[in-house]
Amino acid sequence: MSDTTTSSPRPGILVVEDEAKTRASLAEGLGLQGWEVVTAATGDDGAACLERRHFDLVVLDWMLPGRSGLEVLAQLRRRDGHVPVLMLTARDAVEDRVAGLDKGADDYLTKPFALAELVARCHALLRRATVFPAAILACEDLRLDVRARQARRDGLEMALTPREVDVLEYLLRYQGQVVTREMLQREVWKQTNRFTSLDNVIDVQMARLRRKVDDGAAHKLIHTLRGLGYRLGQGPLV
Ligand code: CA
Repeated sequence: MSDTTTSSPRPGILVVEDEAKTRASLAEGLGLQGWEVVTAATGDDGAACLERRHFDLVVLDWMLPGRSGLEVLAQLRRRDGHVPVLMLTARDAVEDRVAGLDKGADDYLTKPFALAELVARCHALLRRATVFPAAILACEDLRLDVRARQARRDGLEMALTPREVDVLEYLLRYQGQVVTREMLQREVWKQTNRFTSLDNVIDVQMARLRRKVDDGAAHKLIHTLRGLGYRLGQGPLV
């Protein structure tokens, strides 16, 4: 397994394939496109790579030693619904393709395949992802799927009310910065012409949201800044 932790403007592709020859030729062929390629030889290694960083595309072999490609895919989809996944399969049975697409694969290619075909499919998936960019906002292990209105912390789904999702989305968009009650009142509650302040309503809502987001987590993400408002995540370094 090779890996890099530096972020790169080049699309990052994870290739999970146990067969050394295929893995090497995929790494070479995709690398020639100018893409940054990380390879993993087992399902466990692939899953570990996916835990560590974001990829723009995953090429995932179905039959892997240990954790199968399908299991890796299911785990990925629990955390991130939007990374395009191209499954490689030696199987040609319709029910297997259906199972793969069912688990959230975006496309599949049956082995043996021509490298040029795989490269073309990868281009198509990356293009599609650019046209419909991922609607995931994240802070550490907190993730919000803005379109699905679904939030997870450490992979566990949280039961949030629509208002709580709105507040969380706003906090995520302004993460690391102070969000005042006035900002929340104006931008989330859409109340601009009120004589009475919504501060108490907002404080109650924030306390509830914080319980859902931070209770039981080792690391608190929502911070109250006395006299100022709230902040999600780390503040600016001083
Ligand atoms: Ca295999």
